[in-house]
Amino acid sequence: MCRLDEKNYRIILDELYDGLYFVDHNRIITFWNKAAERITGFTAKEVLGSSCEDDILTHVDNAGNNLCMGHCPLAATLDDQSPRAAQVYLHHKQGHRVPVSVRISALTNETGAVIGAAELFTDISDHRANELRVKELEQLALVDKLTQLANRRYIESQLDKHLTQFRRTLLPFAVYFFDIDHFKKINDTYGHDAGDTVLKFLAKTLTDNGRAFDIYGRWGGEEFIAIIRNLDRENLFTFGERLRMLVEQSYLKWGEHRLSVTISLGGTLVQNNDTVDSLVKRADRLLYSSKKNGRNRLTIG
Ligand code: GH3
Ligand code: MG
Ligand code: MG
Repeated sequence: MCRLDEKNYRIILDELYDGLYFVDHNRIITFWNKAAERITGFTAKEVLGSSCEDDILTHVDNAGNNLCMGHCPLAATLDDQSPRAAQVYLHHKQGHRVPVSVRISALTNETGAVIGAAELFTDISDHRANELRVKELEQLALVDKLTQLANRRYIESQLDKHLTQFRRTLLPFAVYFFDIDHFKKINDTYGHDAGDTVLKFLAKTLTDNGRAFDIYGRWGGEEFIAIIRNLDRENLFTFGERLRMLVEQSYLKWGEHRLSVTISLGGTLVQNNDTVDSLVKRADRLLYSSKKNGRNRLTIG
């Protein structure tokens, strides 16, 4: 059998389609391949030598728990040597959250002692669907320039289409109306460019974590709408909560500062006799309740 030397191993690991990094037993990052750079936006130079506990990837799970603070699967594998797999959201350098599936295994030396761990991670966002969607929308002038989300005109036409389909098939769908909390403060404190950047990474968090049939649009200013098919009452809450959590957990380094925002949401299911106007107004009223009750929350109805 042909034996590969270290240089060849490195080349192969570097060219993997999946992100791969190694940490030593102190969780210091010792290897970072090209796909890891592509998926996270951080170059090897920026992360080698830092700890995975540092403010780099800050994985969160579905419930919004920060895994680097106490639930780190890497640390657990270093402890018990058991391999682990999980679906988590990592922090991209540009601020948005990227859904990834991770697999972790312990690295041992010849005597079997643990010397570190390897994490292999796959980007599971549906980039192709998003790219096609943007192309389609661009052609129709239905895309919001700043965020690349559908614009208000497209959202209105989609709501209309979904309602027509609902009357015919009774296929349910949900509408979430949401607005960034205290957004004026971001502009006032860090400037308009910072505000624009926040709008962009928030939009990317939405689309990267969306499925092919989900529709996210910018209604205007810092207000957004999501149209999500096939949700029942229970899912209505869980889905909206996940959106709220993902935005809350997205952040961007801006000089020495950390830009991060929360959203207040109203979520509602389509009802018989709804019109575009009644649906949007109901979601907007629910959003208003979320604002009134303290912000960074979801109200469904
Ligand atoms: P609330 O929690 O009540 O929603 O507070 P808020 O500060 O978010 O609400 P308000 O409506 O007072 O302010 C919205 C701000 O959003 C004001 C406006 O300058 C800013 N904004 C709207 N569109 C854009 C944009 O495209 N870029 C930037 N940077 N700011 C924008
Ligand atoms: Mg606002
Ligand atoms: Mg507003």
